[in-house]
Amino acid sequence: MTERPKEDSSLKSGRIGRTRAIKILDILEETYPDAKCGLEFNTPFQLLVATMLSAQSTDRTVNRVTEGLFERYPDLDSFLTLTREQLEQEIREIGLYHSKAKNILAMCRELVTRFSGQVPATLEELTSLPGVGRKTANVVLSNAFNIPALAVDTHVLRVSNRIGLARSDRPDQTESQLTNLIPRDRWIKAHHLLIWHGRRTCAARNPKCEICSIVAYCEFYKKNIELKKDKICQSNICQ
Ligand code: SF4
Repeated sequence: MTERPKEDSSLKSGRIGRTRAIKILDILEETYPDAKCGLEFNTPFQLLVATMLSAQSTDRTVNRVTEGLFERYPDLDSFLTLTREQLEQEIREIGLYHSKAKNILAMCRELVTRFSGQVPATLEELTSLPGVGRKTANVVLSNAFNIPALAVDTHVLRVSNRIGLARSDRPDQTESQLTNLIPRDRWIKAHHLLIWHGRRTCAARNPKCEICSIVAYCEFYKKNIELKKDKICQSNICQ
């Protein structure tokens, strides 16, 4: 895959430019030097299962469940011995466990019949598996195979749109805008940094703008917080 063109498409869309985006990533790297995948895994297969389990669940809950699950069933062969009821029992602590168990077992069967028991390493093949969407596929590509990809989850979607790195409420469009803006060799890290920032500082409700390391670069802050402060200031105490 070749790097995306370096034109500053953000200028046309009203998003911020590439130089500014790189500056933001530099600051986030300093702020979160340990940013990495929150899911525990030893193999691409384990990461695929863990990511499928993580939809609408926290990494902490998934890790708690997979710790024992992967000890008892560490690989595809052992998963194939599980009935749906047994897997449901194993993962019942996780939301949507009925459908997740069904999809994981169907995915396992397709790995055998279509991919010789190996987790494939392309977006097209991964998303052809039952229960594997674009976000899950990108997480597996980037974290298990170190293939540049930028998965857009709820944190990446919210944070990148607040900062001004993207302008869309759709994950696929946000992914496309981010991968056009951010150099390809920084996609994997950018994903982790935006998630960490979303979890630790830029929460969905009550973002901690007062302690945010990129406040000077944030479009949301400029439009919503700074402006309100200015209005309050103009209307009373500052005059
Ligand atoms: S300034 Fe506020 S809204 Fe902007 S990125 Fe930081 S925490 Fe999020």
